[in-house]
Amino acid sequence: MGSDTRQLSVFFFPLMAQGHTIPMIDIARLFAARGTKSTIITTPLNAIHFADSIDRDKKSGLDMRIQIIPFPCVEAGLPEGCESMDDLTSPDMVLTFFLNLYRFQEPLERLLEEHRPDCIVADMFLPWTTDAAKKYGVPRLVFHGTSTFSLCVVDNIVRYAPELKVTSDSEVFVLPSFPGQIEFKRSQLGNRGDSQNPFTELKKKISETELTSFGVVVNSFYELEPAYVDHYKEEMRRKTWNIGPVSLSNRNTINKAHRGRKATIDEHHYINWLNSKEHNSVLYVSFGSMSRFNTAQLLEIAMGLESSKVSFIWVVRMDKTKAEELFLPEGFEERMKGKGLIIKDWAPQMLILDHPAIGGFMTHCGWNSILEGITAGVPFITWPLFAEQFNNEKLVIQVLKTGIPVGNEVWILWIEPEDVSVTKDKVEEAVTRLMGKGEEAGDMRQRARELGERAKQAVEEGGSSYTELTSLIEELRVHSQQIV
Ligand code: UDP
Repeated sequence: MGSDTRQLSVFFFPLMAQGHTIPMIDIARLFAARGTKSTIITTPLNAIHFADSIDRDKKSGLDMRIQIIPFPCVEAGLPEGCESMDDLTSPDMVLTFFLNLYRFQEPLERLLEEHRPDCIVADMFLPWTTDAAKKYGVPRLVFHGTSTFSLCVVDNIVRYAPELKVTSDSEVFVLPSFPGQIEFKRSQLGNRGDSQNPFTELKKKISETELTSFGVVVNSFYELEPAYVDHYKEEMRRKTWNIGPVSLSNRNTINKAHRGRKATIDEHHYINWLNSKEHNSVLYVSFGSMSRFNTAQLLEIAMGLESSKVSFIWVVRMDKTKAEELFLPEGFEERMKGKGLIIKDWAPQMLILDHPAIGGFMTHCGWNSILEGITAGVPFITWPLFAEQFNNEKLVIQVLKTGIPVGNEVWILWIEPEDVSVTKDKVEEAVTRLMGKGEEAGDMRQRARELGERAKQAVEEGGSSYTELTSLIEELRVHSQQIV
């Protein structure tokens, strides 16, 4: 074992969506930092967002590169240039996007044949990569981009269908044969009462490839969710490596500031602003890379933040088709001078969360945001919307006990909710509770701080994630020696 010193070559194939691409690039960097050649496969327009960051990595001595393959948007029935989930403007387009990802299979196979990498790490939404890789003797690792807790929840719901045993969407049920006493409501689950939909086949394939692939890499760390990591391995029999938080692979300020894309705010401006604030006094409010609220909901958030009297940084994703300042209450920006900072579109999230003035994070519970908040040691106000975000909320509220739910209880299919689900009073109440000086908030802050410390320890030499990555690379090396 380990006598082969040949450089390993690993392909990384992310889904074209910020929440999937950002952590995959971080994983590619982690591998490269251990001496592998890391190649990220993507499309021309997606490459633009991270080409500079890969150049910086190369200059720092890492063997990283981008391999571009075209996305035939028009053939797929999408508008020209629509290469990322960020560009999708309706649920129909989302479906078209996902159902056309198979078009990458042929170009990928050509690359595999030509380069014969030692492994490919591919996003869950590209399940056909397992078979494509097998043809060339290349092991495929699945990357889901979520917590192990959430993977276990999804399996539990499929296996036992506990939601069918309650009589209403709002009745509470407990997940059966599941570690911990985890409570859900049917309204918080996706695809309620719709067992057959266009995603059914895709989901089945995704689940199957967990078992037919080499294994699963998870952006999490053992100490965060030990009962669920054990459950996933032992009860669900998945082979898995927890190697996160992968965001910690971004060690310098510029990489952190431009992670995902270049921020629409000069980092010095908000750093100076945060420097003027007391520790733990500012709430960071952001709902990820895709979610957009309607004008009425934005108004409620603005009014709730204002009446809480808490300082905030609020990232607002603007719907480009609507008038820019429409959502703000009259005179809001003037009154909030010095109190609140609004960032339109893209914020340097990692840098903001790391600042000691940040004392809480109001989030849509995308897994990257949750893990980045955990790593920064901050407690949450949870506002899940779609995908597996309610699962992540349960982990924060019921297992880690480092957050307060804002009160949205209905899962939606699309990134832009039509209704107002949370009123200004609920926003104000949650913000006051979390950011106040009460015992509840103090305890959460303490727990969050401890988790942040453990997250950082996990990726240091000798830490659990560091060690898991070492053994994964070792297994890949053994595998490639066997097939030579
Ligand atoms: N992000 C960012 N700036 C923004 C919005 C998002 O840097 O203004 C990053 C964030 O740090 C995270 C990713 O984009 O790494 C979003 O992923 P997440 O899983 O939280 O949510 P999604 O966008 O997939 O819904």
